Amino acid sequence: MSTSPRTAPHTAAALHPAGDMCAHAAPGHDLHPIQKRLAAATPSRWTDAIAGETSADGWLELHAVDGSPLPRVWHHEHLGDIVHPGEPVALHGRYHVLVVGSSWLNVADAPSLVG
Ligand SMILES: [Zn+2]
Repeated sequence: MSTSPRTAPHTAAALHPAGDMCAHAAPGHDLHPIQKRLAAATPSRWTDAIAGETSADGWLELHAVDGSPLPRVWHHEHLGDIVHPGEPVALHGRYHVLVVGSSWLNVADAPSLVG
């Protein structure tokens, strides 16, 4: 399973190598403790989803369990190392947090990266 390239040419937002320090708290970068607290405090905004394909440039496809449309999400670390297709995840619709197992990730959805 090493056929997919680990480095992608070109995206608007740069990936950091895993383990790199990240000084950003913008969507897609490090999860801020306040963001986690706010997401945990608004449980009605979670959507159960199934992870789809990950791309080498940090994008993850999501499929809502109830069939509602979900955006692709982006994280600064390659999500293929964190989540695998078919795995259950939860996306917070207001505070853009993706939960995978015990990991809480700050993610950007597609529209918020435009412009
Ligand atoms: Zn970052």
